[in-house]
Amino acid sequence: MSGTFSKLKNAYRLLQHIDFNMLAKLSEKVDLPKVIASVAQMNDNQLNGLLKMLGGSQGKKALPPIDGDFYNLGGKLNEEDRALQLKVRAFMEKEIQPLVNEYWLKAEFPFEIIPKFKELNICGVTYEGYGCPNRSFLMEGIIAMEMARIDASIATFFGVQSGLAMGSVYLLGSDAQKQEWLPGMQQLNIIGAFGLTEPEVGSGAAGGLTTTAKREGDAWVLNGQKKWIGNATFADVIVIWAKDVDDNQVKGFLLRKGTPGFSVEKIHDKMALRIVQNGLITLKDCRIKEADRLQQANSFKDTARVLRMTRAGVAWEAVGCARGAYENALAYTRSRNQFGKTISSFQLIQGHLVEMLSNLTAMQTMVYRLSEIQDAGQLKDEHASLAKVFCTLRTRDVVSRAREVMGGNGILLEYNVARFVADAEAIYSYEGTKEINSLIVGRAITGVSAFV
Ligand SMILES: Cc1cc2nc3c(=O)[nH]c(=O)nc-3n(C[C@H](O)[C@H](O)[C@H](O)COP(=O)(O)OP(=O)(O)OC[C@H]3O[C@@H](n4cnc5c(N)ncnc54)[C@H](O)[C@@H]3O)c2cc1C
Repeated sequence: MSGTFSKLKNAYRLLQHIDFNMLAKLSEKVDLPKVIASVAQMNDNQLNGLLKMLGGSQGKKALPPIDGDFYNLGGKLNEEDRALQLKVRAFMEKEIQPLVNEYWLKAEFPFEIIPKFKELNICGVTYEGYGCPNRSFLMEGIIAMEMARIDASIATFFGVQSGLAMGSVYLLGSDAQKQEWLPGMQQLNIIGAFGLTEPEVGSGAAGGLTTTAKREGDAWVLNGQKKWIGNATFADVIVIWAKDVDDNQVKGFLLRKGTPGFSVEKIHDKMALRIVQNGLITLKDCRIKEADRLQQANSFKDTARVLRMTRAGVAWEAVGCARGAYENALAYTRSRNQFGKTISSFQLIQGHLVEMLSNLTAMQTMVYRLSEIQDAGQLKDEHASLAKVFCTLRTRDVVSRAREVMGGNGILLEYNVARFVADAEAIYSYEGTKEINSLIVGRAITGVSAFV
């Protein structure tokens, strides 16, 4: 027992001398578990010598770990959930972090990550059957946070695939449609997208869609355009929401890649979420079989069921984005020296860090409770909207302070905060802007709708 303790103590002392960024860089170059195993075998003299080389000394107080989960919400998870959280974290740190800035700059999607992504087996987190993990909404939120903590674009890719696209089929498809699409989507062999927004209709989608669907025999003819559709440039199937010209109701259609009359143009020059491939879709007399109409989607109320389920996930994404920025900024302030001291020792810098952490902790506790409500089957639109508004607003504040405490380096991609600053802007607007989500909450608490 005491042998195990002294091994653990050695490893703990070593890790205290390595910050988050250094750890990420080291893990690319060396086999960290092996290094930790050999450190565990060292005697006190050998270990002290090593720590001295790393800039530590026995007299100097070890720095606290860098961890944005200040209230240890992760500690509330059961063993199985905690293991999955750490598995996703390891994937993001090992597979995504090293390539993310390069791809963000190129505005391309790193397709080479898909095989490792598949191994995580996390698509359709909360769904039952079709190979899906059937885990809690809390776990889904934690996965979104862990992804966005490293990169909000990859979190968005996942949100579109697992939430919006798979969710539409899962909630609104017939048994045959679920059988056809969900297992392949769960395995990421089939990539999905979700086409609701149009060039002229965003917030007003509920009543204002202009894309039309006309029933002709055993098929539907679709005409119109869809803008901002994530994954659309390479998706195998796109859920298209269109208004039935006969009954004026919104219906959902599973548009297969290569359908004649369908074309998509990549949206270039975005300043945020540059890895996400957003498309402008044009549908010109696109014929879709009745069998590919989502059989349980009969009005916009059904579309809203999908959005209600996924909006909570966007709040979690905002938390991840804030957490990544905070942790990187904290690490920076501990290594950057000015006036002969680390900038983390300055009161004004500590003030910023504490404001960031307060916001981050408030957000995390809020989304944690939100997921508990969702897991209890009691989630209402206004619950998800409140969290989406609060978290995306606070995230903007956190990322801007993170950038501020880093001075000029805060705007350089390589310091891993600038990307969060930009990406927070897109998360702030998609799946309902601040105004629209505020109006949903306003309607719930006043009983008066100010927008529809
Ligand atoms: C990166 C990114 C990815 C996206 N991915 C997808 C996707 O995969 N699929 C998809 O369908 N869509 C997607 N979207 C679209 C997104 O959901 C819309 O951008 C969003 O709903 C807002 O619509 P809009 O941009 O047309 O803004 P508008 O609706 O034109 O709004 C402009 C401004 O007016 C305000 N406003 C509008 N109505 C009111 C009102 N009644 N009262 C007060 N203020 C109001 C808005 O809050 C906003 O500030 C994506 C967007 C982005 C930026």
